[in-house]
Amino acid sequence: MSYFFIVSVFVLGTIIGSFLNVVILRYGKKTLRGRSFCPSCKKILTPCDLIPLFSFLFLRGRCRYCRVPISFQYFIVEVLSGLLFVLIFLRFSFPEDIVYIVLSLVIWSVLLVITVYDFYHKIIPDGLVSLFILFSFLTIFLRVPILHFLTFPYVLDVFAGLILFLPFFLLWLVSNGRWIGLGDGKLAIGIGFLLGLKQGVSAIIFGFWIGAVVSLTLIVVERLLEKRALLFSSKTLTMKSEIPFAPFLILGTAIAFFLRLSLFSFTL
Ligand SMILES: [Zn+2]
Repeated sequence: MSYFFIVSVFVLGTIIGSFLNVVILRYGKKTLRGRSFCPSCKKILTPCDLIPLFSFLFLRGRCRYCRVPISFQYFIVEVLSGLLFVLIFLRFSFPEDIVYIVLSLVIWSVLLVITVYDFYHKIIPDGLVSLFILFSFLTIFLRVPILHFLTFPYVLDVFAGLILFLPFFLLWLVSNGRWIGLGDGKLAIGIGFLLGLKQGVSAIIFGFWIGAVVSLTLIVVERLLEKRALLFSSKTLTMKSEIPFAPFLILGTAIAFFLRLSLFSFTL
């Protein structure tokens, strides 16, 4: 693939990313239509203020009119969206796999929105996760010949989503929703459909590992801050301990999907 093509794909990704920012901001609140405005001074933004990446950089992350800082989220989501688009085009061959590419673009855009939304609200909206499950299910038709849907070992991949959902559902049921949210289980359905059984299980294990490392690090930092606060007899600084799990599951999925990694080498 030429550099020009890769740069074009990245730019397209950042444009979609700025749309995804609007979706994250307005999901479940009001319609997606309507001009964007500064949340602080309410000034309607011009196309000049809305160029992906560049507007943020040129305005040094501040509103052009009232100079109030703009959330760094806008920039990060645009960069991530651009990178995801490039990674998807690198993973498949263009134009042969165009259907797979389009499905993947939709799937990873939805996953990016879910990640950021869950990070802020600690909730995975049903509408978004349903989209993820639907489009992931469609990819099965590209991987498994339809006549083999119910034959071994394909049947395990076709039903991987439901198989992966079970342990989450049981944990949710046993703990009355305290250990894990049902939203994570719904996410696992889509992960299973997207990756099949072996890679799907691997993705969830990756997610648990990353989640464990990050949580432990945060706990250690929290303890250190508490100690320091006691030493200086100031107010205790405690971080919010509740950590959303979906971003880790999605990161694990990204590792399995883009690196084609699986923890299991045996053939099912
Ligand atoms: Zn403003």
